[in-house]
Amino acid sequence: DPANFTQIGPVMWRIEPTGAMRVPAIIFADEELIRGMDDRVALQACNVATLPGIVSASFAMPDAHWGYGFPIGGVAAFDPEKGGVVSAGGVGFDISCGVRTMLTSLSVKDILPVQEALAESLFRQIPAGAGSRGKITLDDAEMEAMLVGGARWAVEQGWGEERDLERIEEGGRMEDARPHYVSDRAKNRQRREMGTLGSGNHYLEVQAVEQIFDEEAAAAYGLRPDGVVVTIHCGSRGLGHQIGSEFLKEMASTAPEAGIILPDRELACAPIKSELGERYLGAMRAGINCALANREILGDLSRRVFGHHFPGTRLDLLFDVSHNTCKPETHEVDGKRRELFVHRKGATRSLGAGNPSLPRAFHAVGQPVLIGGSMGTSSYVLAGEPTSEEKAFSSACHGAGRAMSRHAALKQWSGRQIVDELAARGILVRSPSDRGVAEEAPGAYKDVEAVVLAAERAGLARRVARMRPLICIKG
Ligand code: 5GP
Ligand code: MN
Ligand code: MN
Repeated sequence: DPANFTQIGPVMWRIEPTGAMRVPAIIFADEELIRGMDDRVALQACNVATLPGIVSASFAMPDAHWGYGFPIGGVAAFDPEKGGVVSAGGVGFDISCGVRTMLTSLSVKDILPVQEALAESLFRQIPAGAGSRGKITLDDAEMEAMLVGGARWAVEQGWGEERDLERIEEGGRMEDARPHYVSDRAKNRQRREMGTLGSGNHYLEVQAVEQIFDEEAAAAYGLRPDGVVVTIHCGSRGLGHQIGSEFLKEMASTAPEAGIILPDRELACAPIKSELGERYLGAMRAGINCALANREILGDLSRRVFGHHFPGTRLDLLFDVSHNTCKPETHEVDGKRRELFVHRKGATRSLGAGNPSLPRAFHAVGQPVLIGGSMGTSSYVLAGEPTSEEKAFSSACHGAGRAMSRHAALKQWSGRQIVDELAARGILVRSPSDRGVAEEAPGAYKDVEAVVLAAERAGLARRVARMRPLICIKG
């Protein structure tokens, strides 16, 4: 019962285990966010807490909202030695959906005279919308190489720069990917979808840095007031979705044989140490590589457009981070280092300063945590905090989070109206779908300022820079 909340800190709420819950549920939010939060977030976090092998607690980030099985904004770690599970719904259907931010040497005054033309070029060159197709068609051998190689493959093919790789999680390539566990159907869906944005919440945005909160980190990240950055949010397209759907079905039907009692079919999962668990993990890692390759190609397309409008200008990758994954990681639990599988669904890894797996440039300040707001409000770059390790397995929020369903947003706004209102505020939105724009109206999202402040107060990540949108290409 979500009424069982206890506030255990200014921005931390706890639900003690009851019934089948093995661990407590913990939600990071201030009072207003928790009051506004869909009751189903607490319910879903409690459901996750019943799964075998879960360690410490089932967490929800300040941007959490209702999701498929797991809440979006959910974090949960499982111990393979204690019957721990992996869940297709706990990763999410858009496997390795994530965000990358690229730095330019441009300032807002450089963009304004060409803002309209730049928006048109980006809209023409970046395939967006449901079922959008790219210029690339992969044959079987190329598909295999892409699923194993990730962004490294993309760079080898000429869609990106070698130096990007150290600025991508996993060095641009997820190890132990197993393309032969990915169905032909999933591969066929992806054959012509590389270098495409997809639909809905995915976007490519040209953003202006408006405010710096942490000078040292901003300098390390290359962010300066009035500077212009390009941010891309998308994932593994049809391939990831197909993998998620197929494994969810299989996990749901085999859970009873594995002795797993599901409070909700959508929590379908399999033991990490099982044939099905290993098969899913291998396929999911291939899905991660697909997303990393896709964002690398989209970054390359953006570079070409910027090169056309601003000859000689470079787009340097700040960082590329996924927010729908399950990864093997070592974490300290009750003073002991343990190998766990951490699900982050609509949650970002948030490594603090000094973490040895960080690229050298981020060693002193922590990992960039890239946060979308909406096409009409601020977005943020945060820095991971060392305290996020003990708080939530080194995790933080990933966006503002929906405050309203797509359906409710459609009733309230029209796409045309949103595009016009934003244009009057100097934000150019281009999308193939009016309906998509209405569903993604800024008013359908939570207050991003409140969300990132809660993450900061919780010790998950701290604010480095706030950006406002200039151009948004919306899927
Ligand atoms: P998700 O990965 O859960 O689909 O979305 C991540 C976050 O992106 C959302 O919670 C939302 O705050 C943010 N977002 C959605 N649409 C846009 C957009 O057009 N521009 C920006 N900057 N952020 C967005
Ligand atoms: Mn996403
Ligand atoms: Mn996505």
